[in-house]
Amino acid sequence: MVKQPNFIACHQPGFLDKYDMLSDAKPGATFLLNTAIAPDKIWATLPGEVQDDILKKQLKFYCIDAYRVAAEAGMGGLINTIMQTCFFAISGVLPRDEAIAAIKKTIRKTYEKKGEKIVEMNFAAVDMTLANLKEVPVPGSASATRKRPPTVSSEAPDFVKNVLARIIEGHGDDLPVSAFPPDGTFPLTTSVWEKRAIAQEIPIWDTDWCIQCNKCVMVCPHAAIRSNVVAGDSVNGNRPAGFKTMTYGGTDLPGENLLYTLQVAPEDCTGCGLCVDVCPAKNKREPKLKAINLLPLVEHREVERTNWDYFLKLPQMPREEIRSNTVKGAQLLEPLFEFSGACSGCGETPYIKLLTQLFGDRLLIANATGCSSIYGANLPTTPYSVNAHGRGPAWANSLFEDNAEFGLGFRVSLDKQTEYASRVAAEDAQRRRRQPCR
Ligand code: SF4
Ligand code: SF4
Repeated sequence: MVKQPNFIACHQPGFLDKYDMLSDAKPGATFLLNTAIAPDKIWATLPGEVQDDILKKQLKFYCIDAYRVAAEAGMGGLINTIMQTCFFAISGVLPRDEAIAAIKKTIRKTYEKKGEKIVEMNFAAVDMTLANLKEVPVPGSASATRKRPPTVSSEAPDFVKNVLARIIEGHGDDLPVSAFPPDGTFPLTTSVWEKRAIAQEIPIWDTDWCIQCNKCVMVCPHAAIRSNVVAGDSVNGNRPAGFKTMTYGGTDLPGENLLYTLQVAPEDCTGCGLCVDVCPAKNKREPKLKAINLLPLVEHREVERTNWDYFLKLPQMPREEIRSNTVKGAQLLEPLFEFSGACSGCGETPYIKLLTQLFGDRLLIANATGCSSIYGANLPTTPYSVNAHGRGPAWANSLFEDNAEFGLGFRVSLDKQTEYASRVAAEDAQRRRRQPCR
């Protein structure tokens, strides 16, 4: 909305590959990037469009490894104080010393009730931020070997490419009204095309210690880690080198030589770490580790993306063979709610995901307004999806009715439709009986 910003901060380095962040920047503006890459190595990693904008507009370019500073300052993954401090240190809205003094005064006011230790921790974060904020050397010319990748895959449906991708890019206001479905319905299975890649770390499976409990799959709020049990001969042919399996430990499924596999969707995982927290299997050689552990996305993205694509093509165990009344069994069922834009680590979405695993192909959802209506119809994409037969949940939300009445309307209309269909079928049967035999 700001047309000529003189300060732009990119808090997630992945956004440079997704959004046009700098074309509106005012000449001579300041650009701040949160990245784990060293200042002298950053330039070579930037897409061509970003290098061109920095050079053309003669931007002042700064960087900070905010996640490392936050971790070292004892603030976990919270980078807001750090990025805010950077803003006041380099944006020039206030003299630097005056701005830092004001930040510290606000910290004392905000956290004093929580004790001196918390105040000191935030002060330390401010001081560490200033020590780690670096200017990035900008060469005289562009040297990029790559462009920003397309917003969605070329394999996406036309509606996703022509409408949803424009909204993802931030150009939704340029779309004509005629681009949208006239009845207000949106197609399902669209979140699968929006690869956010926002995790700093993703879970990597260690087959040596896994007990195949499927708790990690159950707890994942984003359906970004899944398991499958397949016949051995379905994975032995063209499996990618990094694709892992282990002998299936149960006797509840039909077939011989069954293999169990657990796979993360690296670009859909949010890095919340719940799957690791819930994993009950310890690595007995290194007790700090488990059967699944968080490791940097940058080091594992390519391998796990190839593995994920392969995982999706594996055959599914028929639903009727799966014991869906156990955690382990239910998590072998396909979720029809995936990659939602709910907050990382959301405590609601695993229940919705489970609901779709159990009943998704015939589920009708009358959604009350709140978090679940926001991430349930999270324009531009929706997390509700369909199975191979094209069946999935039907979802709607009404802002203007009480949710109970709204849902009751679903029930009454379904009962009416059933009643009408039964009556038509009965009348038809009666008519046939009355027809004389020839
Ligand atoms: S880190 Fe969070 S989002 Fe990623 S797979 Fe584990 S539970 Fe799912
Ligand atoms: S929670 Fe741990 S032990 Fe259970 S399936 Fe996941 S990785 Fe394996």
